Amino acid sequence: MSVASPLDPPMDACLARAARLARVRDRMREMDVDALLLSLGADLPWLTGYEAMPLERLTMLVLPVDDQATLVVPELEASRVDHDPRLFEMRPWAEHEQPTEVVAALVGRRTRLAVSDRCWASHLLELERSIPRAHWRSAREVVGLLRAVKDAHEVAALRAAGTAADAVAAALLGGEIALIGRTEAEVSADISTRLRDEGHERVNFAIVGSGPNSASPHHEPGPRVIGRGEVVVCDFGGSLRLGDGVGYCSDITRTVVTGEPEAEFLELFEVLHFAQAAAVAAAVVGTPCEQVDHAGRELIAAAGYGKSFIHRIGHGIGIEEHEDPYIVAGNPTPLVAGHAFSVEPGIYLNGRFGARIEDVVIATDDGPLACNQADHRLAVVEA
Ligand code: ZN
Ligand code: ZN
Ligand code: ZN
Repeated sequence: MSVASPLDPPMDACLARAARLARVRDRMREMDVDALLLSLGADLPWLTGYEAMPLERLTMLVLPVDDQATLVVPELEASRVDHDPRLFEMRPWAEHEQPTEVVAALVGRRTRLAVSDRCWASHLLELERSIPRAHWRSAREVVGLLRAVKDAHEVAALRAAGTAADAVAAALLGGEIALIGRTEAEVSADISTRLRDEGHERVNFAIVGSGPNSASPHHEPGPRVIGRGEVVVCDFGGSLRLGDGVGYCSDITRTVVTGEPEAEFLELFEVLHFAQAAAVAAAVVGTPCEQVDHAGRELIAAAGYGKSFIHRIGHGIGIEEHEDPYIVAGNPTPLVAGHAFSVEPGIYLNGRFGARIEDVVIATDDGPLACNQADHRLAVVEA
């Protein structure tokens, strides 16, 4: 079946999920998978709208290629499921039952099974005992590359999350979030509050790295007090629900300085700004993921900072903060309309300072569509 353009108006959530189920079944047939078993992770909410709690009690969607899907769910969780009988049946299990036996009964004589990457080992080991004839593979092989291609619902959700994160970035760039004399942890808490105020239901991270900490890409914001004339890298995001849908992630990085920076930093930032824009511009349909990484990386390397750019340029984003497609050397997957991913080059001079600029971008037939519009220029925040 054909995939709708990501810029089509969103359709009813149930129809969108039914279309995803049909794509998954097509893929299962192509890959000779008899049944898909989905527990924790993003595949389940993507297909059903229900996110399983990470409990020792098993929740699992049993999706046979040739039959109706059934959600096996602890009885005490069943009322939380927004059950749509057009998509799946419900099989609540009681405390005295063995849920992996319930799953085994639904699987029946099918043997070629694909299971969630995030399924707990304890559950998988029990399933292996309950279904001894099964051949197992990862559900990521079946669902991952389908889920990477966003439909109109998901594009709308990602754009809404991006707009909400942009509002926080604008407050940062505009000096509304005081930096000087405050700890990284305090600024991080402020950013988190603002992300929630802008509509995020969950904050995933709010990195604030100041001074030499700006050279550490995943710095944990701590007690360091931000001084005058320093570099501050802020990388933050959360998950935002649009309507009755599941949450989709935002992820943005902006770098600011608290006063006039030294000349070398200005030079580094110019290179980075140019490289980030070049990588976004390279993100057109048909371009291999690794080529987008290369488009930014070669400019950074040409300026002599190649060894200071120590991570891939980006990651897919959706229900999960990091998912397919990864924008990295060695990934030849060509971009298709609907691929959503970050573009986030960074340059880090250990012990001195660093900078990163990050936007979420969606590949469309009309070219790269940025979900983030917050200003990329270096902001001097003297507050
Ligand atoms: Zn980020
Ligand atoms: Zn990111
Ligand atoms: Zn720019």
